[in-house]
Amino acid sequence: MTEISDSLGGLIAGYRRFRETGWETERERWATLQASQSPRTMVIACSDSRVDPAQIFDVRPGEIFVVRNVAALVPPFETTPGRHGVSAAVEFAAGFLKVQEIVVMGHGMCGGCQAALTQKLHGQEPGSGGFVADWIAMLDEVRGPIARELGTEGRAAERAMEHAAVKVSLANLRSFPQVREKEQRGELVLRGAFFAISDGLLYLLDEQTGEFQPA
Ligand SMILES: [Zn+2]
Repeated sequence: MTEISDSLGGLIAGYRRFRETGWETERERWATLQASQSPRTMVIACSDSRVDPAQIFDVRPGEIFVVRNVAALVPPFETTPGRHGVSAAVEFAAGFLKVQEIVVMGHGMCGGCQAALTQKLHGQEPGSGGFVADWIAMLDEVRGPIARELGTEGRAAERAMEHAAVKVSLANLRSFPQVREKEQRGELVLRGAFFAISDGLLYLLDEQTGEFQPA
């Protein structure tokens, strides 16, 4: 048998704890979930290892439908050829699962947002930073004013970028006709959120003021 690495070994140990505690105690719930899922909320978060939505929101299996990617971004509604993974998930969540809320959760110390700000991966080949560069280029438009006002280094500029990224994703979500129409009919609520890693606090975006307030 292939040797198990230390990191996988740690995960397998966690899996055994899960089988004894998480799975066993929620057995009935798993049996129900076996047939179907009906999460009420979709969460779009960063792939960053420090911002696991299930952990932060302390939810049980079946409660949230999650997409995680670099910088927690939603691309605009595009019909160009390509593998539109996030769009597929949004389409599925809104159209089939009929979630009632979509939460876009950005976070502090986000490497993806930092790269968008510094543009340090600009011009890299796919596989050598180019995929990330291309992905976070959707923040280029909001980057300009931030870089001019606050520069491209330091927490003030980075946090402004992290907050702006959440707003870009919300705007892009609304470019999906299905999402926009559901929101207008009151069937779907879009929310921006921000998790500050340094103090473990969650902030919610007030779209009227554009400010993030402690939840
Ligand atoms: Zn991130």
